[in-house]
Amino acid sequence: MSQQNPESRWFGEKSVTPEQKTGMVINVFDSVADSYDIMNDLMSMGVHRLWKDQFVRQIRPRPEYSYLDVAGGTGDIAFRIRKATGGAAKITVCDLNGEMLRVGRDRATDRGWLNDFDWVVGNAENLPIEDESVDVYTIAFGLRNVTHIDKALADAHRVLKPGGRFFCLEFSHVDEPLLAKIYDAYSYRVIPKIGQMVAKDRDSYQYLVESIRKFPKQKALQGRLYDAGFGKAMVKNLSFGVAAIHEAWKF
Ligand code: SAM
Repeated sequence: MSQQNPESRWFGEKSVTPEQKTGMVINVFDSVADSYDIMNDLMSMGVHRLWKDQFVRQIRPRPEYSYLDVAGGTGDIAFRIRKATGGAAKITVCDLNGEMLRVGRDRATDRGWLNDFDWVVGNAENLPIEDESVDVYTIAFGLRNVTHIDKALADAHRVLKPGGRFFCLEFSHVDEPLLAKIYDAYSYRVIPKIGQMVAKDRDSYQYLVESIRKFPKQKALQGRLYDAGFGKAMVKNLSFGVAAIHEAWKF
């Protein structure tokens, strides 16, 4: 990045101001909300479902806990937690984008689950959630879209109860060089084309691919979790690092 201005942020490959980035991210998800679920299946060939299943297994959901799914979008993680807890847990879905939540609410209604969640519009950097009120904080494929990652980590720490756990599922970095090359070719050449064909929106999917490359590597994110006050930060690669789960504790 031509980082003369320390405040500037990446929007894909473009350097923009923090305010611009937040507005652009809202536009991207406004634009993709209706095709988001089908695009996820097409782009990942269904693998995102396995990653999300693994993510929720790692959380080991229990009905007596309260859950906050940040950047919860159309509800994929919240629905899995709901399923695992039989509808008994308190689950809040928070997202910057009202359109993504609208699609999520419609999906919950179709399943007869509308009243099983609180749907809240809010920014991960400044959550409309009380201090120390949540047992489990989750964020899946959301953190790389956040303008100030460290502010989001600090706010996750703020809302968690002592003894609470943080979980992040995010695209990450492949450590095997040949695989990294193949993955790069697929994501730069194929994903924007699928975005163009299915969602009629090449730019948003180009952004999604580029934002993955700019996201901190596994160890770097682990370090930033410690900087935000978390303890016992662990990372687990999925599919050779195409995605990774970060877990950490608030003590
Ligand atoms: N978690 C869902 C999933 O795994 O399918 C949705 C992931 S989607 C790729 C990213 C979501 O992050 C979008 O719904 C977007 O609106 C949301 N988002 C982006 N920046 C955010 C922020 N600063 N605070 C809260 N949500 C944000």
